[in-house]
Amino acid sequence: MRTDVVVVGLGAFGSAALWRLAARGVKVVGVERQAIGHSFGSSHGTTRLFRVACMEHPGLTEIARRSLALWTELGERTGETYVRQTGSLNVGAPDSRPVKGARQAAAEAGAPTTDLSHDEVRTRFPQYNLAADDVAVWDPGAGICYAEPTVRAHVAEAERVGATVYPHTMVTAIDVGRDGVTVRTPTLDITADQVVISTGAWLSKFVPVRLSPRRTPLFWFQPKDPASDAFRLGNFPSFIWEFADGKGLWGHGSDEDFLVKVGLDGADRDRDVDPDELDRYIHPRKDIADLSAAIDQHFPDLDPEPVKLMPCMVTDSPDGQFLVGRYGDRVLIAGGDSGHGFKHCAGIGELLARQTTKETPYTDVSFLDPHRF
Ligand SMILES: Cc1cc2nc3c(=O)[nH]c(=O)nc-3n(C[C@H](O)[C@H](O)[C@H](O)COP(=O)(O)OP(=O)(O)OC[C@H]3O[C@@H](n4cnc5c(N)ncnc54)[C@H](O)[C@@H]3O)c2cc1C
Repeated sequence: MRTDVVVVGLGAFGSAALWRLAARGVKVVGVERQAIGHSFGSSHGTTRLFRVACMEHPGLTEIARRSLALWTELGERTGETYVRQTGSLNVGAPDSRPVKGARQAAAEAGAPTTDLSHDEVRTRFPQYNLAADDVAVWDPGAGICYAEPTVRAHVAEAERVGATVYPHTMVTAIDVGRDGVTVRTPTLDITADQVVISTGAWLSKFVPVRLSPRRTPLFWFQPKDPASDAFRLGNFPSFIWEFADGKGLWGHGSDEDFLVKVGLDGADRDRDVDPDELDRYIHPRKDIADLSAAIDQHFPDLDPEPVKLMPCMVTDSPDGQFLVGRYGDRVLIAGGDSGHGFKHCAGIGELLARQTTKETPYTDVSFLDPHRF
């Protein structure tokens, strides 16, 4: 088979690249080892946190904004919602990363935020058992985005406008030659002018980039009082909270189709895992004990026993930023999500499509250059 571009791996980044390439009329084929929107990579579960003011790097603002614009446009066509801007609370001591970082990122992004004093947070958000010096920054443009439904929507839209998709097809080799790049699978070989490799935790299996996949389970909870509305999304919007010991909690409230989601920062142990050998069991003591103890202490009205959990993976890069862009004459890559990539994936797909077709990027992405290490 011959085509213009092959996208290998249709998770968050790859599905978006496929969509943005197909949307400009490029002859594109997508190959995914699992079903579309599966739970063996990094993009499963219902939701991810969404922010435009990104404390991870000022250059990310434009990418998040582009994602929001693309998802809004897609939603107008499909009737679905891909981002809900519920607002977000960044909590901690005045010099903590969420508070200082959110304020700085918002100022750089030109996004309005509101500072909330300790007493204001206590009054508006009584679910929080605050430390004496905790304050917050309210970011009204933040919220949640939908993970699995968005990946499926990217692929469906790509197919609608002409992409060919092979799910359940494992790419076993990518051979770059003079006349093209050949993507090999057990059932067919596809030769293309260019390939986008977006295999998430498996990226290092195809290109020699320094990445560290990390086992990071997802957890969902419910209030101790099942009749309580205190942890509904409207009352308990998305949040990032850092404690004095550097650990922290992040998450958001429940709605009709999802539970309260909370994760613990600073407790991840399983680094440099082989994604093919990922431990997919949940170990009560190792996986749950620290998170439950933190919930017990900081959200006393939330039942600290999770009601649902799933293994997942974050793929860390050495500087915590993604690797997006041209890696060789015929090869582009997107990976190294470092735990904050979902909100950017549509914007990253658009960047990859522009780089593939030699259009001007819509923003400076030198900080994501895969050759920077
Ligand atoms: C617990 C957790 C919480 C997170 N929270 C947030 C958040 O709040 N906000 C946020 O923005 N981001 C968040 N993230 C990060 C976000 O989920 C990731 O940035 C994003 O999912 C990464 O997508 P990806 O395309 O790189 O990887 P994936 O979605 O895993 O895609 C890679 C794809 O490649 C396929 N593949 C691999 N090998 C092959 C092969 N040989 N042949 C064919 N296909 C192959 C895989 O099956 C997979 O579908 C979180 C991540 C985790 C784990």
